[in-house]
Amino acid sequence: MSEPSIFTRILTGEIPAEIVGESANVFAIRDIAPQAPVHLLVIPKTQEFRDVVELAAAAPALMAEMVALARSLAVEHSDGDFRLIFNTGEGAGQTVFHVHAHVLSGSLNEKSLG
Ligand code: 5GP
Repeated sequence: MSEPSIFTRILTGEIPAEIVGESANVFAIRDIAPQAPVHLLVIPKTQEFRDVVELAAAAPALMAEMVALARSLAVEHSDGDFRLIFNTGEGAGQTVFHVHAHVLSGSLNEKSLG
């Protein structure tokens, strides 16, 4: 079994972070280094999928659950509009290989790409 990811360690309470939203299989935290007025991470509770390609192929319902939580958090924290970004692969800036969506919202400009 693989080592727990940083996000699993947050979910289990080993690393402190405020859980800002949750549904059955997904949770959300604030990004520690925000790139937009609202910058949240929406994360499956399971760490079995390393990126969105694996997730979409194997568990589309889980991906839909992530999008639904992103939407409700964007409504709660901003005007409901948002960017959803999945960095996929090291070359694209992915640093945590436990799939997660960046949810960016609120007064975005063209450079706020997470
Ligand atoms: P990636 O670079 O893999 O697309 O995104 C990982 C994100 O996780 C980064 O934006 C980074 O700021 C965030 N992050 C890394 N470690 C922590 C942490 O301990 N707490 C929180 N809240 N965010 C983290």
